[in-house]
Amino acid sequence: MRFFTVLLVVAIIASAALAAPAKNQKVAKTTTHCSSWYKVKADDTCWAISLKAKISLPTFMSYNSKLNCSLLQLGEQVCIAIAPGPTPTSLAPTKKPTSSWGCTKLHTVTDQDTCWSISQAAKLSLDTFMSYNPLLNCNFLDAGVSVCIAEGPGGVAPPPIPIYSCSESGYFAITFDDGPYKYTSALIDFLVKNNLKVTFFINGQNFGNIYDYAAPLKKAYDAGMQIAHHTWSHAVNIHSCLLSGIINDFSLDILIYRISRLLTSLSFVSKLPSWKRLLGKFSVSFRPPYGAYTPDNLRIIGEMGYKVIVWDVDSEDWLVENFAKEQANYKSALKGTSPKNSGHISLQHDPHPISAQQLAPWAVKYVHSLGYKITTVADCLGDHNPKDWYRP
Ligand SMILES: [Zn+2]
Repeated sequence: MRFFTVLLVVAIIASAALAAPAKNQKVAKTTTHCSSWYKVKADDTCWAISLKAKISLPTFMSYNSKLNCSLLQLGEQVCIAIAPGPTPTSLAPTKKPTSSWGCTKLHTVTDQDTCWSISQAAKLSLDTFMSYNPLLNCNFLDAGVSVCIAEGPGGVAPPPIPIYSCSESGYFAITFDDGPYKYTSALIDFLVKNNLKVTFFINGQNFGNIYDYAAPLKKAYDAGMQIAHHTWSHAVNIHSCLLSGIINDFSLDILIYRISRLLTSLSFVSKLPSWKRLLGKFSVSFRPPYGAYTPDNLRIIGEMGYKVIVWDVDSEDWLVENFAKEQANYKSALKGTSPKNSGHISLQHDPHPISAQQLAPWAVKYVHSLGYKITTVADCLGDHNPKDWYRP
């Protein structure tokens, strides 16, 4: 019920649409070890073919290193598997030899961009481009977001890229937003009883107040679940929050961040309320309300040390409040995916009783039946030590 729009979220399939046949387009038989060929069909893209073949896009490109994804031709043969033997040439990610190594050049994504087109324009192999932007999901390439196209000594960390899915295949991070509320405690009991670890993106004061639910939240935290940040009030989007200076917990965090840089005294921070008081630490994961952000937001959120977590499986429980439709949304989002080559982050809302009481247990069974392992967002992004999920 709290979603009206998702700003600046432009899902772009990571390849250009099928182009008209072009003369002299080399058929992609560029690897001598190909063991399985695929004939390009209408509407195919490099991304779509890699999904069908259950291989990553960089792997697909490494099998077809001279292929131009903008000029795919109907009937063209592309390689989707290689025989054992020497690995394809090229595409070794650049080594990162020094501690001052970092991003030296950014590219601002446009509506027309794909991962492939950006890497081509930057004269990078797709693998190298992906190694510069390891958490980027090419299926969710947002216009306005900055991606790294060059690395070198003296470089810096690029602004955070919104994270839509797990970076490790086979994992599934179920997330609950907008709580805590009166259904949260029973949900946490269910999760603890079944030894399930999920992620809660909590508000300070939304449906309920966090201090009224400190005990169940602490129980979830102690059980190894991830408690992450979703702003204090959810009442304003980050953009207006940042511009207007309305005091909610997120703008408080920004103030804290700026003041602490001035005072270099973090003792001041510990006297402030909310997350610090509840858990004794801050989350390093943040989900913007409505999944909305601007490039300016991202830069500041990044300066504050947050990862920006979105989702790629939306139950739309906030909208439909109908169990059958929520199940259908889940199934639709996961149609054709496999734990062998994908990991997902779902969106649910524990203040909605259907979601907390019916969808949650059903989703657990469904996700397990597909072969995914349920875990927290941080864990599915490769941060396996819970200590790394928070900062002092
Ligand atoms: Zn929310």
